[in-house]
Amino acid sequence: MGKIPITERVTGHTELIGLIADPIRHSMSPTMHNEAFKKLGLDYVYVCFEVDNTTLADTVQGLRAMKVRGWNVSMPNKGAITKYLDKLSPASQIVGACNTVVNDNGVLTGTITDGVGAMQALQAEGVGYVGKKLVVSGAGGAATAIQVQAALDGVAELTIFNRRDRFWAEAEKTVAKLREQTQAIVNLYDLDDHAALKRELDRADIYIDSTPCGMKPLEDVVAIPDPSYLHRDLIVMDTVYAPRQTKLMKWCDAVGCKNFNGLSMMLYQGAAAFKLWTGKDMPIDYIRDVLF
Ligand code: NAD
Repeated sequence: MGKIPITERVTGHTELIGLIADPIRHSMSPTMHNEAFKKLGLDYVYVCFEVDNTTLADTVQGLRAMKVRGWNVSMPNKGAITKYLDKLSPASQIVGACNTVVNDNGVLTGTITDGVGAMQALQAEGVGYVGKKLVVSGAGGAATAIQVQAALDGVAELTIFNRRDRFWAEAEKTVAKLREQTQAIVNLYDLDDHAALKRELDRADIYIDSTPCGMKPLEDVVAIPDPSYLHRDLIVMDTVYAPRQTKLMKWCDAVGCKNFNGLSMMLYQGAAAFKLWTGKDMPIDYIRDVLF
């Protein structure tokens, strides 16, 4: 909140925006939104709440009762929260998850801004994706949002890799929906199928890692087995932004391929949520300077 004393910044009129997730203390979202509120003179404050699935229902009930204007949702609540909301945006329905809730006089609407954020992050890095081949590791909330948006926005070929864990069935549903509703060629492979992983990454233009690999407590974990799976012409986006440079990104540097973390994605998905809550455009260049 810069140098403005808390007693001048927060008054009886100040409205609350929150973020409910666990773990949460690494988040850049409070800095992003509070700086934007301050810059635009908007009377809101953004605060993090450590909430997991066990306390999610009570939390949503409480936020609604307190007439809180809206909040963000992150791991592990993105899918679980949808059943407590009144409406879902079309993208949120396809993905089956949401990262943003807007409270309009007690009516809670969930939407997902991660996919738009990721596509805008690629654009901001000068990366064209229309007609390209994209490989995505992960099939959770963020990954699915990216996959849906990429296919809708004109990626020619989308190859998804995931472990055969509880997300596998969700990935199969995403593939079926995207084959039906978009022009993209969409395939799904087991992340442990290393022959397929090597073949698909060799032919790929863009690789997005949308797993928690690289983030605490998986700092030393990379979703792909070793740097030989990367090539110089591949563009790699790691959705993790804490730490700023993941082990995957270090491998990319060693191989010589362009890579960047999830900060831009976070910025653009945040700007979309900011607009829904306040009706205002986030001052993106200003916020980028503050965050970087
Ligand atoms: P999620 O829990 O919904 O999904 C996790 C996914 O990762 C699943 O597909 C799971 O199979 C896979 N996975 C988990 N552990 C793995 C491992 N050890 N090896 C391989 N795969 C593994 O999570 P989510 O909300 O989709 O978030 C995933 C990542 O995306 C997180 O790192 C999060 O920080 C990042 N994210 C970034 C932004 C951003 O704006 N930059 C936004 C949302 C999420």
